[in-house]
Amino acid sequence: MTDLKSIVDSVYHDLSDRIGEGKLADYIPELATVDPKQFGIALVTTDGKLYSAGDAETAFSIQSISKVFTLTLALGKIGDGLWKRVGREPSGNAFNSIVQLEQEKGKPRNPFINAGAIAVADVVLAGHAPKEAIGEIVQFIRQLADDDTIAIDHNVARSETNTGYRNVALANFMRSFSNLNHPAEHVLGVYFHHCAVAMSCHQLAHAGLYLASGGRNPLSGGSVVSPSRARRINALMLMCGHYDGSGDFAYRVGLPGKSGVGGGILAIAPDKASIAVWSPGLNENGNSQLGSAALELLAQRTGWSVFGQ
Ligand code: GLN
Repeated sequence: MTDLKSIVDSVYHDLSDRIGEGKLADYIPELATVDPKQFGIALVTTDGKLYSAGDAETAFSIQSISKVFTLTLALGKIGDGLWKRVGREPSGNAFNSIVQLEQEKGKPRNPFINAGAIAVADVVLAGHAPKEAIGEIVQFIRQLADDDTIAIDHNVARSETNTGYRNVALANFMRSFSNLNHPAEHVLGVYFHHCAVAMSCHQLAHAGLYLASGGRNPLSGGSVVSPSRARRINALMLMCGHYDGSGDFAYRVGLPGKSGVGGGILAIAPDKASIAVWSPGLNENGNSQLGSAALELLAQRTGWSVFGQ
């Protein structure tokens, strides 16, 4: 029987002298003000046990990890129709790259690069005012985490709204290919706000449990998505969740994972646990440097991987 408590504690302990490594996502001015010397781990098993270490209760900007939740909502709204608008292939490019989008006529490679998530936000926006769509996303995340205190960090949302020129370009570019049904400002309003949701590792690991449990929330017993949809979202996380670092993450960790430039990573060990790690310093691909190292050690020490031991 794996002693998860001592594994989580040992991973934290063995990496603690590296806290502060990596580079903050200073292209979003508000994220440049975060203290880089923070590191948290939370692991919630499918039977609801929590193992945590370090800053596991400190809220941080989940950024692109939110794309897992908006993808889940968009699939709930239009099902496989989504794949007419967004692909399912790794991009091999940076998360904010525009090059492929021109070559592929405005259809983003996958729902986790910025362009793909902006198209997904357009789907979630359908039939709503931007405020309502943002409310629906936050409510969905609160329900998944069973925690009504989860909220948007409006300073981060404002900071990105004021400086997110590349995302404005991506959105307008897609609109020119008729792959956006709403005005770019409205879609980006939804996108910037869901990226600015603040959560702790503990809350995030709880919210991700449905992906570790065949689409059901094992604690409430409620169904979030079908088992096959959960499996497919995990497949997308594995192939595309770390952008042009996805291959390396699969090689080193071997679990579906989704990173965000706030320094968080959500990883799923199917039928075992949902794991969230956070440390704000990023590597060259925009993925948490210490967070990736923590998940690599954790996967080694638990023996968890979707590829076998
Ligand atoms: N909001 C960020 C952006 O659009 C999300 C990027 C990320 O977390 N990789 O640039």
